[in-house]
Amino acid sequence: MIKANDPSLKSWVEVPETSDFSIQNIPFGIFCASNIPHRTTTAIGDKVLDLAVLHNSGFFKEIELPDGIFEQSTLNNFMALGKPVARLVRNRLSDLLAVGNEELKSNESVCAEAFHEMSEVQMLMPVQVPNYTDFYSSEQHAFNVGTMFRGPENALMPNWKHLPVAYHGRASSIVVSGTDFHRPKGQTKAVDAEQPSFGPCKLLDFELEMAFITCKENPLGTPVSTADAVDHVFGFVLLNDWSARDIQKWEYVPLGPFLAKNFASHVSPWVVTMDALEPFIVSGPDQDPEVLPYLKYEGDAHFDINLQVALAPDSTEETVVANSNYKYMYWNVKQQVAHHTGNGCNLQVGDMYGSGTISGPEKEEYGSMLELTWRGEHPIQMKDGTERKFIQDGDTVIMRGYSEKNGVRVGFGEVKAKVLPAQ
Ligand code: CA
Repeated sequence: MIKANDPSLKSWVEVPETSDFSIQNIPFGIFCASNIPHRTTTAIGDKVLDLAVLHNSGFFKEIELPDGIFEQSTLNNFMALGKPVARLVRNRLSDLLAVGNEELKSNESVCAEAFHEMSEVQMLMPVQVPNYTDFYSSEQHAFNVGTMFRGPENALMPNWKHLPVAYHGRASSIVVSGTDFHRPKGQTKAVDAEQPSFGPCKLLDFELEMAFITCKENPLGTPVSTADAVDHVFGFVLLNDWSARDIQKWEYVPLGPFLAKNFASHVSPWVVTMDALEPFIVSGPDQDPEVLPYLKYEGDAHFDINLQVALAPDSTEETVVANSNYKYMYWNVKQQVAHHTGNGCNLQVGDMYGSGTISGPEKEEYGSMLELTWRGEHPIQMKDGTERKFIQDGDTVIMRGYSEKNGVRVGFGEVKAKVLPAQ
């Protein structure tokens, strides 16, 4: 067991029972405050901890770390040091925050400088994303969408159970939680219209996803096996991969998603490490038909992460519209990495890989409004008395995720964003 994952550990920092940021989590992120432009940080309970202050005060002297590594604007260079280094830092932070360890606790001046209330800092985009790939790895989601457009007999395309389908997305428009954005405009064509038109998207939707981030490159031309895949994966964030359904319907033939997908994708600010999620690994579904040899894998690689989507109309109470779980994926991270690099494609540090919309078997577990309302046929009742088929201007969509086992909770916080009217 990784030392920092010990379920018996308790922190001397107060951690509320429902906090995602227990001492067993120790995620990484980047924050800024009034006099601090950007710092690498971890979260514990309701507080964030400035790792640069700890580094400069000698608390990491046993670990080989470059000067200024925690004073950068993204986690990329820290992640590039490798997972073994991040593991040492996480274990050290766990030691420093654990009941019985007085090193940091007794140093009042360092504590005063290093700890901030989470509510008083601003979380920034944690990584600079060079490349973004979006998979389509939830069978229920692929089945639901396929059923709507082709009927249940032909719902899954012939390739779907032989390879983790994906496309290359846009990295520049991936933004951090809290970044409000305007409803996209685009070209659409109504079924009964003679000509297409350009204007605000009418069918704006969220997609409930997880994304993993890579920290280790492979040389161009050198595939990564399922056995080595995990070495390349640093951790996970929550991802809301917004979709403009009406724009997508008209534009996607024959090359796939483009402007319906690249106007904004939001991620949660805390990168929860693969290490922290290890206790929550579960087995995946039986894969039938048998996959090709390069997609076979040893050891479980699915994660039991509870996911929730809530919708808050302007200035009113939120309504939970979906509860799902990341464990429902058909294809797992090892297979996604092996397939992505099977032709020699090179991964880069900071690359982000969306899971694809995560839908579970029950109706309330669907990961998009398209599925939850079944193309708008069954609107969702909101607590303020209105109803929703898709996302309206002024709506805030909030996604949350956490794992829980043996009394230990490890979570992601939330990713949220408000939709402003089209400009
Ligand atoms: Ca997606």
